[in-house]
Amino acid sequence: MSKLRDKAAIWKQRKLSRITNDDNIKINFTNYITMQTIEQTMKETAQKAWGKRPLIISGPCSAETEEQVLQTAQRLAATGKVDMLRAGIWKPRTKPGMFEGIGVKGLPWLLQAKKLTGIPTTVEVATGKQVQDALTFDVDVLWIGARTTVNPFSVQEVADALRGVDVPVLIKNPINPDLELWTGAVERVARAGIKQIGLIHRGFSSYGNTEFRNAPMWHLAIEMKRRNPELLLINDPSHICGRRDILMDVAQKAIDLDFDGLMIESHIDPDNAWSDAKQQVTPEKLAEMLDNIKWRHETAEEKEFITALEKLREQINHLDDELIQLLGQRMKIADKIGEYKKNNNVTILQTSRWNQILERAFKKGDALGLSREFITKYFDAVHMESINHQNKIMNS
Ligand code: PEP
Ligand code: MN
Repeated sequence: MSKLRDKAAIWKQRKLSRITNDDNIKINFTNYITMQTIEQTMKETAQKAWGKRPLIISGPCSAETEEQVLQTAQRLAATGKVDMLRAGIWKPRTKPGMFEGIGVKGLPWLLQAKKLTGIPTTVEVATGKQVQDALTFDVDVLWIGARTTVNPFSVQEVADALRGVDVPVLIKNPINPDLELWTGAVERVARAGIKQIGLIHRGFSSYGNTEFRNAPMWHLAIEMKRRNPELLLINDPSHICGRRDILMDVAQKAIDLDFDGLMIESHIDPDNAWSDAKQQVTPEKLAEMLDNIKWRHETAEEKEFITALEKLREQINHLDDELIQLLGQRMKIADKIGEYKKNNNVTILQTSRWNQILERAFKKGDALGLSREFITKYFDAVHMESINHQNKIMNS
């Protein structure tokens, strides 16, 4: 263990000599030394937090100012409900010119927040240099963001920097719904020798407007957990929802699905946050949400199979919800086709197309063990509904 920490210790030593000459990084030398002495205790606190269920991670989308980081941390600590403090230091932004994170000068603020509250910290890293900087300032847990997981070059760079370091790493799902990429990132980090790895489910990009900023596609998180039952699985309702009003619903679903914890963004002044303003909540609002969540835990009297059954039923409910959403989308497309047919004076029913749909479905169904009888019945019903939709359009 001590050998594993050597690499981070060397980085810190080098930083220490630079810090004293660097006016941009306003860290007080004495503070830094004090931190060294409580570092061991914090490592233990971080280890404990990692093992806690449910594990609650909160803090701002981005570190903005020292005051904002410290106040958020203190107000979160006052709730007594937060196990880990998050803050983005380097922000991957879709477009240039947006706030791209405060950078390395925010790291001492986080260190200070940890010192004030005793809450361990977590930061997103996307490059080897960021890993080095975060560990130099004793960040306790690192996370790999969705835009990084998607790129094997970047994940490998982060993994290479992690070689020889003992730090827990959380890996967000990639922005596209690809479990192999997510798994690949886990494997790269594991091969670098990292023992404590967790997953963060933050939803997946999809084209067009939906209820969510990132579609949850719960079945993918469930499948990832099935494949990796030993990994911690955290849900990030903030980036799934992109808005405050449905955060609670998503958080509750995650808990119903037996997730190990939640990462929820919080800010002292959410509306004026420098990034993700629409989805952040105040620390007090976060506490209220956490109070209202119905936490599922297995009691000793409950027979194991009842709990298992409940969980499976929840999974069925969520999958059914998604099927209904998809059917709704399918009918919207049918409506559009109806418009085209109307404008071009074409009949609704075109037998060759219908046969083609059924043939495709049979083939796919066969591979998945779905009977032809079921496929026929199901598609008949879907097809009838489609025809009814188109009929309405044609006759409107
Ligand atoms: C974040 O957590 O602030 C973030 C950038 O998230 P994601 O990687 O999920 O987009
Ligand atoms: Mn964010």
